[in-house]
Amino acid sequence: MVEIVFLGTAGSTFFGDNFTPSILVDNILLDCPSPCPYTLSRLGWLDKIQLILLTHVHPDHSLGVLELLWHLWIEGKGRRIQVIGPTGTHKFFENLLREIHPSKYQDILSHGVFFEAEPSTKIGNISFYRAKHTVKALAARLDFRDASVCYTGDTSPTRELEEGFRDCDLLIHEATYPPGMEEEAEKDGHSTPIQAANTARKVNAKYLALIHLPYARLGPQIEETYLSSAKKIFSNTFIPKPMDKFILEGGNLGYKS
Ligand SMILES: [Zn+2]
Ligand SMILES: [Zn+2]
Repeated sequence: MVEIVFLGTAGSTFFGDNFTPSILVDNILLDCPSPCPYTLSRLGWLDKIQLILLTHVHPDHSLGVLELLWHLWIEGKGRRIQVIGPTGTHKFFENLLREIHPSKYQDILSHGVFFEAEPSTKIGNISFYRAKHTVKALAARLDFRDASVCYTGDTSPTRELEEGFRDCDLLIHEATYPPGMEEEAEKDGHSTPIQAANTARKVNAKYLALIHLPYARLGPQIEETYLSSAKKIFSNTFIPKPMDKFILEGGNLGYKS
């Protein structure tokens, strides 16, 4: 049994009270934008995070790690957080912190235990794959005893992901561009709901969650078009709302109120 909480689902920038992608899968946090540590603290969940998995360093996915390192340093309890990201992740935060606090940046950075994953790396129950984006980016598959969750981060469709995500229970797929803009999406290292649904069908997923929608640019009404275009290809598609909780067990996804 796996618990999944969608903390933020908006694409590229926040919209209303919805922030950018951040999903809690048991005690693993998939991506960590800047509002994320505060949200976890407000919910009393900050201590339950064992690992943060960053798909790439774009701010809508990563800057919460900076906030969290700063918080752990100020808090002064010597707590550290594990962070896995693509090659260059450690340097990225080191450079930022050196600018922010030249005399203490190493102390602040030491609150993170960084591990840089290459595509094809497997760490415990997490397998990493190369995502096709504008910067070095990873996608991940999390296998549990009776459930599997795959997360694309930001990507256009690739053969490697189709192979790695085979037979997963829940596919969490980005859909940044509207249906009909497949070519533009691909050029920009993103996907449309049609491409996400095609991948879900090809990999034989049980459920498809569409996230990273362009709410700020196209408004919330975009959901209708997204959902109908994806459902024509893959009927078990849904668009999660922030703070939606689900239990995945034995291949069945149940909403938890
Ligand atoms: Zn993004
Ligand atoms: Zn990105």
